[in-house]
Amino acid sequence: MKNFKQVAIYTDKLESVFCNLCGVEIKKNRFGYFDDYLSVNKTWDYTSNFDGLTHSFDLCQNCCKNLIAQMKIKPGDSHD
Ligand SMILES: [Zn+2]
Repeated sequence: MKNFKQVAIYTDKLESVFCNLCGVEIKKNRFGYFDDYLSVNKTWDYTSNFDGLTHSFDLCQNCCKNLIAQMKIKPGDSHD
């Protein structure tokens, strides 16, 4: 037989997201989810120019669009 005790579990809830490039707040849509955005979390190798640093940033859709427009080699478009 098992007896259970109710306990409160605390977790991190994402409150807000801001685009690191333009600073705009990424809004939640009518379903309560954030509009889609690019989230990057990169830990650089110790032999790189960043010597083991971790960079984390988020980009809104407009900034991603502008960033892609500046690329000499465009990322391939695909839909899974
Ligand atoms: Zn932006």
